[in-house]
Amino acid sequence: MCGAPGSGKGTQSDRIVEKYHLAHLSTGDLLRQEIATGSELGKLLDSFISKGNLVPDDVIIDILAKHIDSLDADCAGVIFDGFPRNVAQAEALEKMLAERNEATSVLLDLQVEHDELITRLLNRGKVQHRSDDNIDTIKQRLVVYEEKTRPVNDFYKNINKYQAVDGMGTMEEIFERIDSILKQF
Ligand code: AMP
Repeated sequence: MCGAPGSGKGTQSDRIVEKYHLAHLSTGDLLRQEIATGSELGKLLDSFISKGNLVPDDVIIDILAKHIDSLDADCAGVIFDGFPRNVAQAEALEKMLAERNEATSVLLDLQVEHDELITRLLNRGKVQHRSDDNIDTIKQRLVVYEEKTRPVNDFYKNINKYQAVDGMGTMEEIFERIDSILKQF
């Protein structure tokens, strides 16, 4: 599940997981869990996240490698939420899965207009008090998205696994659009 910050990746992932009995692996959630422990690693992670920058690939790939083999073996599949965030991570994911005789099925690109992203993130900031949902950090996250994450779409287009999803509208409408794609798998 990909898309700009505020595009609804987490919200829609929760719905998909519920309907399709998938395991949910959100790198953002895993990073925030580590930060919540107050560990030295957590402090280092927060220094990237609170500035709106990506956490270095080796840290992310390490976290992923730790979790991927501990997922419920009986689940129908896995939804990666907020990962891969750049082309190097996409390559690492494909390699990690190939080594396990697994493969990705589809990249869902949730597309939301710029002003709507900012509105949603500022609203979430008021409720969830995340260190990165403030206007300066939001602007940087959107720059990072354009520079680093958007090229991941082309990576999946090249291997015929890309599907754009209109991410504007109600949660229900967006879920219906995603669901009509996932029914094909
Ligand atoms: P998210 O919850 O997906 O919006 O992620 C929040 C923040 O965590 C991002 O702005 C990044 O700083 C960091 N982060 C989450 N996932 C990744 C990833 N795959 N690679 C690098 N940084 C990440």
